[in-house]
Amino acid sequence: RRVFGAEERRLLELQAYGLVALGAGAALLLRFVPMPYGRYSSPRFGCPLPARPAWALQELPALLVPLGVAACGAAASRWPNRVLLGCFVLHYVHRALIFPFLIRQGKPTPFFTFLLALLFCIYNGYLQGRSLSNYAEYPSGWLKDPCFITGFIGWLVGMAINIHSDHILRNLRKPGETGYKIPRGGMFEYVSGANFFGEILEWFGFALACCTIESLAFALCTLFILGSRAKQHHQWYLEKFEDYPKDRKILIPFVY
Ligand code: NDP
Repeated sequence: RRVFGAEERRLLELQAYGLVALGAGAALLLRFVPMPYGRYSSPRFGCPLPARPAWALQELPALLVPLGVAACGAAASRWPNRVLLGCFVLHYVHRALIFPFLIRQGKPTPFFTFLLALLFCIYNGYLQGRSLSNYAEYPSGWLKDPCFITGFIGWLVGMAINIHSDHILRNLRKPGETGYKIPRGGMFEYVSGANFFGEILEWFGFALACCTIESLAFALCTLFILGSRAKQHHQWYLEKFEDYPKDRKILIPFVY
């Protein structure tokens, strides 16, 4: 059993490296082709699916798989593991069950993009779920450790920025409108990709609180993918709006 555990642990590590490679590969590809959904949606990537059910269905595995895995994981009964699994699951309760139903006139998602997102959520849901419910080990008092507390605050602040920024974007449109406007307020005063900045901060905070290779791999993959999308959006805004604020950065306030 112990040997099997060591083998699986190694396999999860390899899966984590795979996730980083996937993110880096995607970032390279996204230099040439914008991620095909939302404003860059195109029928070339498969039949268009309505935004709301596509978002809900593609994100649902990242909620259900870790819950299923945790139900039979030995470590899931320990408090630090429970809290960290709870953070991951809470994000996906919002992303799969709340966010899709708030979308206003979102552009359809091409089938290929939907499928990639679905596979990503299964893969990453299993990776984070299995790592936290079976292998991650924490010293007693981890929930009071500065490393956990700093990471947890990063996760919480990141999630708040992400949700607030998505709220700002949603409210740019009046009912029935489908066009784009310049986002203002909140973190959009500093960066074009405020929602992406929030999500990246959230997962780096989570990685610090977890201190696992698997969670760091997810944070890096998110940085690669959402960093590329933020850059594309920034470029797109500059081309579309002559009066786009010139001092607004792409992703990281005052820096990039
Ligand atoms: P976008 O910023 O591209 O779009 C979000 C929503 O706001 C869409 O419904 C979009 O409409 C609308 N919108 C965006 N900009 C404007 C504007 N200027 N004027 C009016 N409406 C606007 O975000 P994504 O769709 O890429 O991502 C949504 C969420 O999912 C984010 O919180 C992101 O962090 C998260 N995400 C996480 C990933 C991860 O790897 N962890 C990967 C991808 C997304 P429309 O659809 O018509 O463009």
